[in-house]
Amino acid sequence: MSELQSIDKNYVSNTYARFPVEIVSGKGSEVYDDTGKRYIDMGSGIGVTSFGIADEGWCNAVTAQLGKVQHMSNLYYTEPCALLAKLLCERTGMKKVFFGNSGAEANECSIKVARKWAAEKKGAEYSTIITLWNSFHGRTLTTLAATGQDHYHELFQPLTPGFVHVHAEDLAELEETIKANKTAALMLECVQGEGGVVTLSREYLEGAAKLCKENDILLIIDEVQTGNGRTGKLYSYMHYDVQPDLVSTAKGLGGGLPLGACLMGEKVQSVLGFGDHGSTFGGNPVCCAGALSIMERLDDAFLADVQAKAEKARNAFTGAKGIESVCGLGLMIGLKTAKPAGDVVKRCNEKGVLCLTAKDKVRLLPALNIPEDVLMEAVEIIKEVCAED
Ligand SMILES: *Cc1c(COP(=O)(O)O)cnc(C)c1O
Repeated sequence: MSELQSIDKNYVSNTYARFPVEIVSGKGSEVYDDTGKRYIDMGSGIGVTSFGIADEGWCNAVTAQLGKVQHMSNLYYTEPCALLAKLLCERTGMKKVFFGNSGAEANECSIKVARKWAAEKKGAEYSTIITLWNSFHGRTLTTLAATGQDHYHELFQPLTPGFVHVHAEDLAELEETIKANKTAALMLECVQGEGGVVTLSREYLEGAAKLCKENDILLIIDEVQTGNGRTGKLYSYMHYDVQPDLVSTAKGLGGGLPLGACLMGEKVQSVLGFGDHGSTFGGNPVCCAGALSIMERLDDAFLADVQAKAEKARNAFTGAKGIESVCGLGLMIGLKTAKPAGDVVKRCNEKGVLCLTAKDKVRLLPALNIPEDVLMEAVEIIKEVCAED
């Protein structure tokens, strides 16, 4: 272990099992460790660095804003925050944006809006939020309660009450649960990222959206991981014929700086008023300037290219030795491998490719602008690793 690694082990809270790799520099989808070894980055900081490391356009936008005003608080207007909110609304048809700093906070905002909406419209007891088993919505005590995976809950009781979980793909269970509870909203991911890159079927999501309408409850879509071009559409719900009332997003939105957003649709646009919610850092001008430089480039032609590259990678994996199935949407790729996913990722590290796991899958979230030849170089290395005895 290097000296830096042992300092980190001694002083940084033990919550992460880090790989024995120290990354010191990079450009685009290629990064280098302290020994000069090159890696292809197929994780992009868990879907955060949408245009890779040190992207020129993003760096210019961020550093230009950094040299003007780095932070002013939400007591004053700043340009990047306003322009980003406008762009997000124009591109989605949503009406208002609340900015926070993370995915968990974006979901907290969606949950608060849903509870206040239901309390005002239906009565304070209409506070139940339904989420899916196997979901992941964050690490705060409320978003943990929303997360439908018991092992995250055990050590942190009591969690925020009012969350009920249902099984994905079971519309009958969803309908019963909506009716059995005083329900405010349904919250779900179109592709469960941490849950193993599990994509909801069209029949289920569109059926669930219909049930929300019929029962006058809100549909919240957690686009923290799937949003901002990741799946080849601007937001993953756009692959389906559904209109969410609330969209939470973060991860790739800021391109590498902390930024989360809760997008509010027509029905809920006026739910929050002065003093109902807030965030000291939320809408920070530097983070928003970076996000603007990302969002402005996610046009239809760019997203079509994301889909085309993803298709090529998916086709190359399909049927390869040691790969049992390929799942996910766009550049959110899950691989069910014959060998344990953790072993595949470890071996890929040795061979110069950084990958992620999600449950029992190998998970790939490369930068959206990864050049096709670099992507396919990584694909070939991953295939070699999967095929090794
Ligand atoms: C990562 C993630 C979160 C939590 O985001 P943080 O920024 O870590 O708080 C919430 N929901 C989904 C779907 C995620 O993938």
